[in-house]
Order: sequence, then structure tokens, then C-alpha cells
Amino acid sequence: MTKKLYYDSSYLTQWDTTILETVKKDDGYYVILEETAFYPHGGGQPCDYGYIQDVPVLDVFNEGEHIFHKLERVPEEMNVACSIDWNRRFDHMQQHSGQHLLSAVCWELVQAMTLSFHLGTDYCTIDVEAAELNIGQLDSIEREVNRRIYKNHSILSYCVSEDEVKQLSLVKQPKVTENIRIVEIKDVEHNACGGTHVHSTGEIGMIKLLRTEKHKGNTRIYFKCGYRALEEFNDCQQILGTVSAKFNTGKDEIMDRIEKWEKEHKQLQAELAILKEKDAEYTAKQLLAEQDGPLIAHVFEDKNMKELQSLAAKITPHTNVPVLLATAAENKVVLSQKSDAGHSCGAFFKEHLGNYNGKGGGSPLMAQAGFPTWEDAHAFYEFTKRMFKNN
Ligand SMILES: [Zn+2]
Repeated sequence: MTKKLYYDSSYLTQWDTTILETVKKDDGYYVILEETAFYPHGGGQPCDYGYIQDVPVLDVFNEGEHIFHKLERVPEEMNVACSIDWNRRFDHMQQHSGQHLLSAVCWELVQAMTLSFHLGTDYCTIDVEAAELNIGQLDSIEREVNRRIYKNHSILSYCVSEDEVKQLSLVKQPKVTENIRIVEIKDVEHNACGGTHVHSTGEIGMIKLLRTEKHKGNTRIYFKCGYRALEEFNDCQQILGTVSAKFNTGKDEIMDRIEKWEKEHKQLQAELAILKEKDAEYTAKQLLAEQDGPLIAHVFEDKNMKELQSLAAKITPHTNVPVLLATAAENKVVLSQKSDAGHSCGAFFKEHLGNYNGKGGGSPLMAQAGFPTWEDAHAFYEFTKRMFKNN
């Protein structure tokens, strides 16, 4: 059986040992070591990476009594020097110890028990037994966890028997019954856990609660500890810096500037809508004046579908001929008419669109369609024009 060095110390990063067994599986090579400090996946904490005799460790997991290390290739020697990726390990220690403290404070302040813990590359979460946590509760939890971090409580780990565990008031009973590993945050809590932890809460650095969401009737809390919290702060500061530079102002005035900008934007939108309306009225008049023959037809370069429909609706009440409009900006075509005495716009589109790869439809009085290319849209437009002119 492999000796688990990570139980003796979370801080051991280099050691020499012997390969006990090498296994070749379909997806690669695996070795079992006499002693290992590589933490395998478990208890919400991902595995460690590092090197066994210069060969990168790709995965570490428990199977029965053994810990398997997946390697790119098998080392040439049986006596090997091992090292773990300390940045990754310490990050896991900060997040995992932070989680214990966060869970303890959630229980203490709002009696919400932690149901599960996820420690991923992108985010860390705990699910707590609470239908909802309000902003005030989350603020007090965050403040209290940080206060406990700064109080620098020692974190100890040791094994106890089943009888001894009964003396400790654990919030959650352990799944194992012998050699139960306890992680104790002095004066805070005892927790049955096999993970790697920092020596004292001060090393967690800080905790930041980011957001919550409902999950299966409970609350999921997203958080970051230590360097992750620092990186989050740097990201936010960079975004804020970019926005401040765009608005040419400092962080304190930025909200005022954005509100002012929003107001101006709304005003411009309103002015633009009025101008577009006037433009549409003018275009409608012009198309009506140019009317010659059994159809009014026109191609626009820059209008969107909504503008085409609104223009068609302005023209049709003043003419007895159908109105056919197309836009090259969106590869779309609209057909409308005052009455459906002769034919139905929708039925006409339904019958012929397929030949031009078009999709759409409509009512007897107005139909619209979109096409994959302008060539298709234009061909359908020309076809429709011919059909109506020949009628
Ligand atoms: Zn734990």
C-alpha cells in the first residue's frame, strides 16, 4: 500500500521513492509509488500535477488500496525523484481551507449546512441548505469568514477512532468508520476531511463571495480565496480602468457618466425614430408618385425587415396595386396589398419560396421572407415582379 505523504504534510513538494508497479492501460501508463505526496481526486478537491523523474504526471486517482499516477511514459529508473506543482497545490489548499471556514460560518450565522463542494479550475462553489440567502446575510458571512482569516486560527489534521469522533461535534458525520481524518480549525470547528490544507487561516489570504444561484431548492455560493481573489480583483480593476478610460473619468464618477450616456442614448434613439419615420413617409410618397403599372416594386440597400414592413404599410392604403420591397442589407423581401380580392400574399410566398431557398410566409395582406444570399432574394424579387406584371 502506498504511504500517503500528503497526510503528514501538505507542504512536502519533493521526495525520492520507488516505483512499486507499472500498469499499461489502453489510454496510457500508470505507476504505483511506495510513497506519494500527489493528492488524488477526492472530497471535492482535484488531483495534483507535477513530475516523476522528469515525466509529467497527467492524472492521479485512488483505486482500491492504490493510488495511480498517469504518466506520459514510464520512467527508465525504478528509484525516482518526484515533485509536485506547488502553485496548483497551494491554490487548492487556499480554496479548500477557505471552504471549510465558509461552511463553518454559514452554519454558525444562518444555520445553513453545506451539502456539497466543488473546486474547479474556473470556479469554486458550495451548495448550502437554504432556499435563499439575502444580501445582508451574504455580507455578514463574507465579513465573518475574512475576520476569522485575519484571526489566523491554526488548522490541524489527525486521525481518530469511531469512538473519539463521537466526542467531536461534527456537523456532518463521516462516511468512513476507521482512521477517520479530522481537519480542525482551532476554536472554529472539526470536520472529517481527507484534503490538503494550509497551516493556519491567515494563509487563505482572503475570501470573496462572488454570487449565488438557486440549485435544486438550495443555494449555490460562488467564491474565491487567496490568489484567486487577487486575480479577480485585478480582472475587475482592468475592466474598470478600460471603462474609465473610454468615459475619460475616474472610478467615482463612472456611474454618473454612464447614466448620462444612457440618457443621451435614449434621446438619440427617439430622435432617430422620428427621422426614420419622416424618411419613410417621404419614400412612401415618392414610390406612390412613381407608380406605373400593376405593381410598386423597389430594392433598398440599407433597410432592415422592420423598416420594409413599416414602409409597405404606409404605401398600401393609398394604392390598389400590390407593393413589393426588397433589402440587400438583410436579403429579405416583403409583399403587401390593400385587399386580398385577387390573390393572397402569404399563399404566393408559400408556393414559390422553396424554389429560391427562401423561408417565410404571412397573411393574405402581407408576407415576408428571408434568403441565404442576396442572389436568391433578388431572383425571388424579380420572379415576383414578372408574375404580377404578366397578370
Ligand atoms: Zn474538506
